[in-house]
Amino acid sequence: MSLADYKEDVETCFGASCGFCERKCPVYQILKKKTFTSRGRNRAILGIIEGKVKPSAALAEAYYQCMLCGCCERWCALPDTEIERELRKYLVEEGFEIEKHKKNVENVMKFGNPYGKEDLNKWREGIKFASLKETDTLFFAGCTMPLRQPETLRRAVELLGPEKLAVMDEEICCGSYVLRTGYEKEYNELSDRFIKYLKDNEIKKIITACPGCHTTISEKLEKHGLEIEVTHIIQEYVEMLEKHKLTVKKLLGKATYHDPCHLGRLEDLIDEPREILRQISDFREMENHGYDSNCCGAGGGVRAAYPELSMEIAKKRIEEAKATGAEILISSCPFCEEQFKTIGGIAVMDIIDAIWEAVK
Ligand code: SF4
Ligand code: SF4
Repeated sequence: MSLADYKEDVETCFGASCGFCERKCPVYQILKKKTFTSRGRNRAILGIIEGKVKPSAALAEAYYQCMLCGCCERWCALPDTEIERELRKYLVEEGFEIEKHKKNVENVMKFGNPYGKEDLNKWREGIKFASLKETDTLFFAGCTMPLRQPETLRRAVELLGPEKLAVMDEEICCGSYVLRTGYEKEYNELSDRFIKYLKDNEIKKIITACPGCHTTISEKLEKHGLEIEVTHIIQEYVEMLEKHKLTVKKLLGKATYHDPCHLGRLEDLIDEPREILRQISDFREMENHGYDSNCCGAGGGVRAAYPELSMEIAKKRIEEAKATGAEILISSCPFCEEQFKTIGGIAVMDIIDAIWEAVK
């Protein structure tokens, strides 16, 4: 694909100019700049395709301030986030990179994670996983949970039963960050290695606790035509509860749930976390929830490159959570949770820890 392949879409946008995409765009709500919305971006892309607009550092600065949260697509018939991703690829190819992204992508290619850390396997010390001869189900930890929430991750596999799961000796990065910041060549390199591993080891199922890994791996498998089941750990817990393999008590107080964009809007996993939370807490919804959930501000490389904007968006979400009267804000994504913990003002918990408490 190239930007020119979206000519008809951006022409449609130019003709419609309805501006519905602005209604809930979290970036527009903070910056109030129409240029930064899908409509503004589509106009710039039409200009690029027609040779009237040249790529520039200013253009990159404007159009990397988008979390790829998909909120605009709730109100628009066009594939706006797909178009934005294509624009990022184009900007990287043209040499207009964001320094922070460039550095983080280098880290991914060198260390397997954008943080440049080497101890990704420390979280699993002492856990006895199955070998690939014993199971065809792979547990994929990703890079953020091992480094930022190691204890939560240990609990996650303990609840599932590590003896039924295999892990890669050294995980091959899913490439979520690389894909979303426009580095196609590097992403394809990672994907080829990832897919080869799955084929060589005849993997039939992948379970992950990270929403970003979940969407990226699903997309990758679809592109390569591999029929491997990918689940988020919440789906596993719901099934275990239904089959009475897991029993929980209502131990938590007033709690609300933040839908990570990658799990809710992008993967339709809306009901599953609520099924669990209603059993273990005094659950209440935020005004914007499910498919209409507001983004936490961390995605699409925005937290790394534009921390101030990212924090302003997170603050708004925290206010929404507090308005429900909840004492605990629960989510199921390490990025969202890190955002909220940075802002503070409400207790923040991963759904895995919430279940762990309720089972205990
Ligand atoms: S991006 Fe979609 S919603 Fe926004 S102006 Fe264009 S057509 Fe309308
Ligand atoms: S993906 Fe999200 S942040 Fe980006 S333009 Fe759409 S609504 Fe705004």
